[in-house]
Amino acid sequence: MTVVDRGTAHWQKLDADHHWHPFTNTKALNQKGARVIVRGEGVYLWDSEGNRILDGMAGLWCVNLGYGRTELAEAAAAQFATLPFYNTFFQTTHTPAVELAHLIASVTPGDLNHVFFASSGSEAVDTALRMARAYWVVAGKPSKTWVIGRKNAYHGSTLAGASLSGMSGMWKYGAPLVPDIAHIAQPYWYGEADAAETDPEAFGLARARLLEAKILELGAENVAAFIGEPIQGAGGVIVPPASYWPEIERICRKYDVLLIADEVICGFGRTGSWFGSQTFGITPDIMTMAKGLSSGYLPISAVAVGNRVADELINGGGEFTHGFTYSGHPVSAAVAKRTIEILRDEKIIERVHDDIGPYFQERLRTLEDHPLVGKVDGVGLIAGIALVASKSPKRFFEKGDEVGLICRDHCFAEGLVMRAVGSRMVCAPPLIISRDEVDELVRLARRCFDLTL
Ligand code: PLP
Repeated sequence: MTVVDRGTAHWQKLDADHHWHPFTNTKALNQKGARVIVRGEGVYLWDSEGNRILDGMAGLWCVNLGYGRTELAEAAAAQFATLPFYNTFFQTTHTPAVELAHLIASVTPGDLNHVFFASSGSEAVDTALRMARAYWVVAGKPSKTWVIGRKNAYHGSTLAGASLSGMSGMWKYGAPLVPDIAHIAQPYWYGEADAAETDPEAFGLARARLLEAKILELGAENVAAFIGEPIQGAGGVIVPPASYWPEIERICRKYDVLLIADEVICGFGRTGSWFGSQTFGITPDIMTMAKGLSSGYLPISAVAVGNRVADELINGGGEFTHGFTYSGHPVSAAVAKRTIEILRDEKIIERVHDDIGPYFQERLRTLEDHPLVGKVDGVGLIAGIALVASKSPKRFFEKGDEVGLICRDHCFAEGLVMRAVGSRMVCAPPLIISRDEVDELVRLARRCFDLTL
């Protein structure tokens, strides 16, 4: 009995009766019924009614190799048959975890030579936060506890992830839930610069220097780390001016504050380099990664740690009392290893950098002549499209969320997955997308903007 044999209504009813969806107004969804996705191939998905959908979001920023890569299924099957599970606690290891840690160390920048595994991006962020605080305890500066993040950042749904996130929705039930967390404003020039701030680079510097002001306010002796996504993804694809990250790094070094790059979305080729940190020219002390690590085929995340922090914690700290049953899960690790090999051997990231990324960005920018589109931002295969009520003078929609959702729903009905973040439409297709598929994506997007007008 296939999904299709039972009929869409059967699955929608069961879904409504029993399945509580994450980040969803489940009551509203249950009234209309969730779309049942049954299959994927390349950049396309198919639903239970046989409709084809171009996945402009690579699942949830993760299916970088596209759907249907049999090599990943084979890697999983072989590992399932050999050793489906063993933990890496208590004096044991296994080859998939070792090989993956070695591969990650070889593609990360600087001396991020030590890799700690978890299952989700949120767990990786929690791990990074605990590592940063543990580091300062062991280094003899236990007052350094504060971690500074940014407004409109997203770092996950666990207690630490939600607290470090700077979105009001994440604090709906009281927050931040973890103590000693502060936020500074984001580097969103198009959306937040005032009329006098006409130079994006000057704006980028000014926003970076808010970190210095916050460190001085809290006292450098109390600040453990700064955390940021190279490009804020879930916040609407906020691409910082080029001046921003080098200044953030300079400030972190000046005040001896650890720099944590949350690469959960930007990692593994999304911006045209292995990591967003490389695209923006910085070398973090700690890096979190997930999603593209296994192309989303199985849950796995990692925290790559530089020699300074790792040496202190590993050699001076005794046992690091942290970890998860599934840290370095052998099947997930085998699939992640194969993913990295494919990215490397097929030169997929070079293609994003040299060819398909620039093509995608150029084609998307043709949408800027549309009356609804204020500005397209992006690099590599990640982009955000600001929908505006008026371009000149620039005026944002009063109910931007509603416009975004209307546009998103038109896209979905027309056969394109794009997400709405407020009035920004965001797009991050699989890295293997072809030029023809980019053309189709842009054509569909234009049609949906027309329908939203
Ligand atoms: N960090 C960033 C930058 C993310 O974008 C996300 C998820 O989108 C997370 C952390 C949390 O990852 P997960 O949903 O796997 O817990």
